[in-house]
Amino acid sequence: MEVFFPRTLAELWPLKAANPESAVMAGGTDLLVRLRKTGERPPAIIALERLAELRRMSIEGGGLRIGAAVTIGELAASEIVRDALPALWQAAAALGSPPVRHGATVGGNMCTASPAGDTLPPLYVYGAAVAVAGAAGCRRLPIGDFILGPGRTSLAPGEIVTDIIVPLPTGGAFSAYYKVGKRRAMAIAVASLAVCIVRTADGAAGKVRLAWGSVGPTVISLPAVEAFLAGKRLAPDVLRQAGAMAAAAVLPIDDVRASAGYRRSLAGNLLLKLAALGDDEQEDGR
Ligand SMILES: Cc1cc2nc3c(=O)[nH]c(=O)nc-3n(C[C@H](O)[C@H](O)[C@H](O)COP(=O)(O)OP(=O)(O)OC[C@H]3O[C@@H](n4cnc5c(N)ncnc54)[C@H](O)[C@@H]3O)c2cc1C
Repeated sequence: MEVFFPRTLAELWPLKAANPESAVMAGGTDLLVRLRKTGERPPAIIALERLAELRRMSIEGGGLRIGAAVTIGELAASEIVRDALPALWQAAAALGSPPVRHGATVGGNMCTASPAGDTLPPLYVYGAAVAVAGAAGCRRLPIGDFILGPGRTSLAPGEIVTDIIVPLPTGGAFSAYYKVGKRRAMAIAVASLAVCIVRTADGAAGKVRLAWGSVGPTVISLPAVEAFLAGKRLAPDVLRQAGAMAAAAVLPIDDVRASAGYRRSLAGNLLLKLAALGDDEQEDGR
């Protein structure tokens, strides 16, 4: 099997065209595991790791542009991500283990489109957009339109993800990522919740964005629960009501890690983490 290491996108497109059955590889932490498990042998691999264009982070027009081949470790080490996008930072810090984070990329996490992908719920609550490019040009779409189902994205043959553009929340927004796994490290989420809440002057929740991982075929957003919380102080009884709505609405399955019933109750109970906000205290999601 041939492995190509293009250094620019201009080098990548002809390689892709000449090797239409090739697999794209970023960190390889999902792809190589999958190839070993299934015995699949793509005729060639096109590695993205030397593409400087995909490895940059920059602030552009009120958003953070994150190159698809930026590693999860680089996200976890980034001060701008820690300070401006804490839910994404907490998700990066909670993904896998140090060696996995060293290789794994944000684009790979997105293209794997696992319902348990840790960076996905934060990217949903921040309203991230995905920049996709192919030989014929570029397009940009909301993350919710990019991910179509478990393991399914809207990438067309020959296209790759180049960047993720994450709008920076306005000052005063609170955001966090809460992950429950079978243990604290090296664990895929049994259930997770990302939140981004802008509070009103009197301490009530203003704009509320919520996204659950591992409790449905893709990340689950529940606009009815967001609308229920908007305008209210996040007192425990309010959060319990919202939790009951969420538990009824998510679509979990039984698998080796947990039962659907356990995931359903976790999805509701994770909202109780926000009770500290009702007391004007902030906590982080770890
Ligand atoms: C031990 C272990 C623990 C793990 N723990 C976690 C965890 O806690 N949480 C979690 O979310 N994940 C976890 N993972 C899964 C994995 O590490 C992540 O999903 C990671 O982000 C994948 O990134 P990658 O760069 O390695 O992707 P790769 O394996 O390189 O690629 C994954 C898929 O995406 C495609 N792809 C990659 N980049 C692009 C691009 N730019 N454009 C188009 N297609 C692309 C590839 O073709 C492939 O189909 C774990 C994996 C291992 C092995």
